Amino acid sequence: SADIAMYHAKANGRSNFEFFHTEMNIRAAQRQLVACNLRRAIEHNEFVIHYQPQIDLSTGRLSGAEALLRWKDPLLGLVYPNQFIDVAEECGLIESIGKWVMRDICTQIRKWLDIGLDAVPIAVNVSALELRNLGYASGVEKILLETGLDPKYLEIELTENVLSQDFATSKLNLDALSELGVHLAMDGFGTGFSSLSYLRRFPIDILKLDRSIVRNINTSDKDTAVVSAAISMGINLNQRIVAEGVESQAQVDFLLDHHCNIGQGYQFSYPLNANAFSRLLHTK
Ligand code: C2E
Ligand code: MG
Ligand code: MG
Repeated sequence: SADIAMYHAKANGRSNFEFFHTEMNIRAAQRQLVACNLRRAIEHNEFVIHYQPQIDLSTGRLSGAEALLRWKDPLLGLVYPNQFIDVAEECGLIESIGKWVMRDICTQIRKWLDIGLDAVPIAVNVSALELRNLGYASGVEKILLETGLDPKYLEIELTENVLSQDFATSKLNLDALSELGVHLAMDGFGTGFSSLSYLRRFPIDILKLDRSIVRNINTSDKDTAVVSAAISMGINLNQRIVAEGVESQAQVDFLLDHHCNIGQGYQFSYPLNANAFSRLLHTK
């Protein structure tokens, strides 16, 4: 349909430039709309966290979970992060959303501990933009103190975007968090360009194999080789390896054969709301 629009634009005697210009304005307007709704969502508390179980592959037991943000829009229903995180980053809302996320999760873990459940570590996705703030690590520490939470219950997932932001400040924050006892996980391992330099620069405890390479286990020789090399490297660096996007028993078998200890994916569970996840903790 872009071609048709282009054709009309030319037929009407307008320049290509004008056409793209209009397209861009529409996109900008849509983003503006999402941004306005996000502001309201923060004020009206429209966010919820879902928890996706992580399974110890050798025992089949629950070993942790990843916290995934959802936005309950009154009109649109459940909106997924890929549709709003980048807008939040662009219009300066990611810091307040990130703070809400961290506080909500720590408060939830506190509740689980208070009712006597054997809570598991929860992995939280953090935007590279949040780590540029000098006070980020102390903000997290403050929330841990207020909720009386042992830092071992918290993991922070980073993407390699961290390398393209203010490096010195990000490094200060990550070193401070690591010092506190918060574990750091590298998300999307196997997809980026700078994964290796990243591993040298930050105190990474956990590697998360991206689902785009996990998907091709046993189907593409190249990806199979990349996965097994990534696992060996992580083992040599003393890291825990979590395979993401596990959807079949064949993948589980492969991962076990290659000493990857933890799996996350639809094969085990979809992300669950806090109540459903609590029930899992009850049966643990
Ligand atoms: P991610 O951190 O790589 O999270 C994994 C994504 O894969 C999640 O999508 C999850 O629902 C999905 N997934 C899990 N298992 C499977 C599977 O077996 N098959 C397939 N096809 N997909 C699976 P989701 O929840 O839509 O999140 C997308 C991305 O949004 C996340 O990718 C993360 O980068 C970002 N995100 C999520 N929550 C937050 C947050 O609180 N803050 C920030 N800054 N980003 C977040
Ligand atoms: Mg993640
Ligand atoms: Mg990931």
